[in-house]
Amino acid sequence: MKFDVLTLFPEMFEPLNSSIIGRAKEKNLIDINLINIRDFSKDKNKKVDDYPIGGGEGMVLMPQPIFDCIDDIKTADSYIILMSPQGVKYEQKQAYNLLEKKHIIIICGHYEGFDERIRTLADIEISIGDYILTGGELPSMVITDSVVRLIDGVIKKESYTNESFNDNLLDYPVYTKPVDFRGMKVPDILLSGHHEKINEFRKNEQIKRTRIRRPDLLEKS
Ligand code: SAH
Repeated sequence: MKFDVLTLFPEMFEPLNSSIIGRAKEKNLIDINLINIRDFSKDKNKKVDDYPIGGGEGMVLMPQPIFDCIDDIKTADSYIILMSPQGVKYEQKQAYNLLEKKHIIIICGHYEGFDERIRTLADIEISIGDYILTGGELPSMVITDSVVRLIDGVIKKESYTNESFNDNLLDYPVYTKPVDFRGMKVPDILLSGHHEKINEFRKNEQIKRTRIRRPDLLEKS
């Protein structure tokens, strides 16, 4: 699976070189290509943004470098995501949808945002939540991370088939050693070795905690 990320700040993507995503890159399970929008500017000073026409605060990304970049890299397999607080709110089910794509292009806005005409390039606008960040770099890493961990061979399938949001349930509580820590004990059933009973206990815990923490999820299921 290939990701092309259009950004003004490729140096912000260091987190994708570590841990699970870093290993997926090393194993060539994914290809994440950072493209500096500035490299596509036709301006003699490599300008990529300008003041909003009509007045107002902040700088706006100009259409020319981004349109030219997309013209250069887009293929029949490309799916273009524009990071925007005005987009559809991102959820786990969309990570599964994106997993089906061969080539994902993510456009990161910055400053006050991007020229309205850039919206016409996107197959989808995605928001990672109702708050404003300085740029689309962190949101694009959120999307990339959530999709890459679902790719075959990146993590064990069992690790994500039981986790929160699958079947609209939150995950069950987990424990590790020691069995007794400062008087807080691991539930006896988990020590019983009885797999069927353990599964039943975990399922019940999932339902119980979803009812308390996220009743909205139970309504969906
Ligand atoms: N003026 C814009 C916000 C611009 S923030 C508005 O009020 O709608 C600058 C850029 O950061 C955006 O263009 C977008 O690419 C990114 N961004 C900020 N918050 C985001 C969010 N919650 N989800 C996705 N992208 C976001």
